[in-house]
Amino acid sequence: MGALAGVIASSSIWFCFDSLLGVRVLRWLRRGKADGPPVELGVWGEISDRVSRLLRQRERVGTDSVARLNDFVAALQASPNGVVLLDAHGRIEWANQTAANHFGLDARRDLQQYLGNLLRDPAFVAYWAARDFSHELTVSSPASTNSHPIQLSLQMHPYGEGRLLMLSRDVTAFKWAEAIRRDFVANVSHEIRTPLTVLSGFVETLQTLPLKQCERDSYLAMMSVQARRMQVLVSDLLTLSNLEGSLPPDFAEHISAAELMAQLEQEGRQLLHSQSDVPEITQSLSFECLLQGQLLGATSEIFSAASNLVSNAIRYTPAGGSIKVWLRGVPDGGAEFSVEDTGPGISAEHIPRLTERFYRVDRSRSRDSGGTGLGLAIVKHVCQRHGAELSIASKTGEGSRFAIVFPADRVLRNS
Ligand code: ADP
Repeated sequence: MGALAGVIASSSIWFCFDSLLGVRVLRWLRRGKADGPPVELGVWGEISDRVSRLLRQRERVGTDSVARLNDFVAALQASPNGVVLLDAHGRIEWANQTAANHFGLDARRDLQQYLGNLLRDPAFVAYWAARDFSHELTVSSPASTNSHPIQLSLQMHPYGEGRLLMLSRDVTAFKWAEAIRRDFVANVSHEIRTPLTVLSGFVETLQTLPLKQCERDSYLAMMSVQARRMQVLVSDLLTLSNLEGSLPPDFAEHISAAELMAQLEQEGRQLLHSQSDVPEITQSLSFECLLQGQLLGATSEIFSAASNLVSNAIRYTPAGGSIKVWLRGVPDGGAEFSVEDTGPGISAEHIPRLTERFYRVDRSRSRDSGGTGLGLAIVKHVCQRHGAELSIASKTGEGSRFAIVFPADRVLRNS
């Protein structure tokens, strides 16, 4: 009897003790933390140890997943392209900052907003309504202004169950380059077509009409002028493309200031002579070399730029006017090449555009005097390649002054 009571008592004690352990393990499990197991003894110790290990493993996986997700989001944020994730109803689930900038969105505030309500560009509305996302769409950014236009290209990519990934990129520079290229091709075609039409007209006349020798000579002379015009145009185009496609000139080549000015004077006087009908009434032309030293760079380019300025002054200044050309050192060690004329001058609104290819203030005057509209574009490129500045000062009716200012490292003065 006494033994039975002992067994019952010890069983009760063991039961109470075991229940206590069970309650501690349960409480610990409810907290859901993988910190040290509350019990180390017996079956409960084994259970809590295993559960603790499982929890720790789950926490590690969770932490890894969060870290990977953060890396992934950081990579999407760093993308130069806009990224927007849309749910099956077209609501914004996530957008990176680039997309927010592109479309004027707030990457946090606009979450869960319908994209179709936020982007109201008519082209986008039509694209969104048609649900044909097989092609890109170009729209103007809401941040675009007249002085700073921004063009965006966007495309929707379906994924998951009805979800959409919208990618966008800024194509302003690309569209601008495309427009420039189109204009350039149109301009070149136009410039070549005119002399070609004249030439083929003369050829037909010579072939079909019985002409006197003096008439033939006169037609041939006019044909030669047109052929020369095309030659000059092609040569200027080649010069421009060489300037654009080659490395900036180094400092090994040089031309002496005196030699440059002498060559320019010789060429300038020839041009003056060739274009004057009455040799007695012509423009006065003076050259002054005030720099003793050398200009360092591509000598043919430097000569071509300087010669373009002299030739423009001679071509645009009417007889009776005067043209002064000088080259002198400037205090910072650089040099200034200037051409000043008393020609018609240029009004202020044209000045910033003069170095654009084929930009002319007076088309017929330029063509009549053999201009291609490329001279100042060539000058600008040569200046850029030599680190020099082209400055233009002009007033209508008072004349113009074009100057190329070379930096000190392009000038070697005689000691
Ligand atoms: P072009 O071959 O037509 O002379 P340029 O590029 O050399 O082409 O010059 C662009 C335009 O700038 C000219 O068509 C002309 O209208 C204007 N221009 C250039 N130099 C002068 C000048 N010295 N005086 C007046 N206008 C000038």
